[in-house]
Amino acid sequence: MAYSPICQNSHRYDNSFGSLPNYQGTFSRHKCAGCAYELGYFHAINQIPKAKNDSVLATIPYSQAGHVRHKDAFAAYNDGYKFALSLAIAA
Ligand SMILES: [Zn+2]
Repeated sequence: MAYSPICQNSHRYDNSFGSLPNYQGTFSRHKCAGCAYELGYFHAINQIPKAKNDSVLATIPYSQAGHVRHKDAFAAYNDGYKFALSLAIAA
């Protein structure tokens, strides 16, 4: 099966991305915010230091539909990271 650069996942938290800011830059504008959120979450639970800029999103898929389109994927990454940390603190 060929690798697809377009995200085919249906992210269960899509609705929460409606409040993300629209991305003002050029790089991660079309990246999938759902995948970015999961990446941030994954980094946090694996104790990987939080990325400082959106170059961390280079490997995640693009998105072309739904709530996540044109949202700030790096903001989603930060939200995912923060959410995982909040769970760790609560546990
Ligand atoms: Zn995705």
